[in-house]
Amino acid sequence: MFDKLDIPKGEGERITIKGNQLIIPDTPIIPFIEGDGIGSDITPVAKKVLDTAIECAYKGTKKIIWFEIYAGEKAQKIYGEVLPEDTFKAIEYFIIALKGPLTTPVAGGYRSLNVTLRQKLDLYSCIRPVKYYPGVPSPVRHPEKMDVVIFRENTEDVYAGIEWQEGSSEANELINFLQKTFGIAIPKDSGIGIKPISIFRTKRLVRAAIKYAIKYHRKSVTLVHKGNIMKYTEGAFRDWGYEVAKEEFRDAIITEDELWNEFNGKMPENKILIKDRIADSMFQQILTRTDEYDVIATPNLNGDYLSDACAAQIGGLGIAPGANIGDFIGLFEATHGSAPKYTGMDKVNPTSLILSGVLMLQYMDWNEPAQLIEKAIAKTIQEKRVTYDLARLMDNVTPIKCSEYGNAICENIKKISQ
Ligand code: NAD
Repeated sequence: MFDKLDIPKGEGERITIKGNQLIIPDTPIIPFIEGDGIGSDITPVAKKVLDTAIECAYKGTKKIIWFEIYAGEKAQKIYGEVLPEDTFKAIEYFIIALKGPLTTPVAGGYRSLNVTLRQKLDLYSCIRPVKYYPGVPSPVRHPEKMDVVIFRENTEDVYAGIEWQEGSSEANELINFLQKTFGIAIPKDSGIGIKPISIFRTKRLVRAAIKYAIKYHRKSVTLVHKGNIMKYTEGAFRDWGYEVAKEEFRDAIITEDELWNEFNGKMPENKILIKDRIADSMFQQILTRTDEYDVIATPNLNGDYLSDACAAQIGGLGIAPGANIGDFIGLFEATHGSAPKYTGMDKVNPTSLILSGVLMLQYMDWNEPAQLIEKAIAKTIQEKRVTYDLARLMDNVTPIKCSEYGNAICENIKKISQ
């Protein structure tokens, strides 16, 4: 079935899909990609924290059977290529996987291994929960007001990679076509990019965001767009977003217009408010009215900017986790890159990957160990046992190593679960 991978034998079972649901066995086989650079520092720590929490929560009745698959430099050594077919097949077959950061090769034809993985596996929602852990140094006065979950569209928009270099025959041909057919004059020395936004891909993203909001009892879903300028792409995203909300979730939602016209601004109970904001205004509001935002659904480029801006408010990229999810497949990964200069130094912060693992547990409905880890991370940070990136922003704190930080979290998981 696989070229160079041996499926764990004698232990573990595959996660499967029945009807519309994931069936999670007690011993799911979960593939992981260690990742390049600091991947070898943070991935073992993240696995250890996840295993400890699962053991403490379920007392041996549930356990992840980890299964290493390869991408990036390790894959290059084993397969002679950075993204072998085995890796795609394994993620498709086992459905859920954990992934360390991958270095984007400078040459080699891939724009980015991460983008390629997301596009080939059609992982259309990039999910970034951003919330504050007390004690983390932050540049704002009230970081605790931030608790958003961003659903960023992952497969289209200007990220679809449809662009041509200035002077290329394709760019010239397009410029001539636009001039001849529509009378649109574009300077001849222009590079050209195309921004597709479709009904199907918008609706499935917004649908996933609303379903998430319902499942986790969130208050609102905000559609963030630049529709005042880009009417038929970003504006259409907003319109199709409202459409899917009203057509498919009528009983569960109200729109902001309905809130004012029918409810005099008073939110009825057990409803999710669907609202929209123009992207530039949203960047202000997330700073000035942080706690008015909850789940956010947005096209690819807005989502890219907004998720890093939100992460900065709660202490940076070393903390914020991420997941790339399709109809069923979930690839859970740290939001930062491979930080090559720190490779093997046992120094960097593994929290982002650990919290991505927490998202993975929640996706599996293993909520008890997920909660244990969140509490243990909060406790460990409050005890000022932190890695260099946070220590340097705190007063009189000596940093501990990546592995020591992982051990401190495991210690706290055990204490909390007693
Ligand atoms: P990076 O996120 O790897 O590192 C930038 C800086 O952020 C580091 O020098 C370090 O100071 C800090 N940092 C990052 N992770 C940290 C952590 N866990 N703890 C503490 N500090 C941390 O970004 P980059 O240098 O632009 O990219 C390096 C490589 O990673 C590139 O090849 C890039 O393409 C790739 N990348 C991969 C992913 C991914 O796998 N999803 C995401 C972004 C970048």
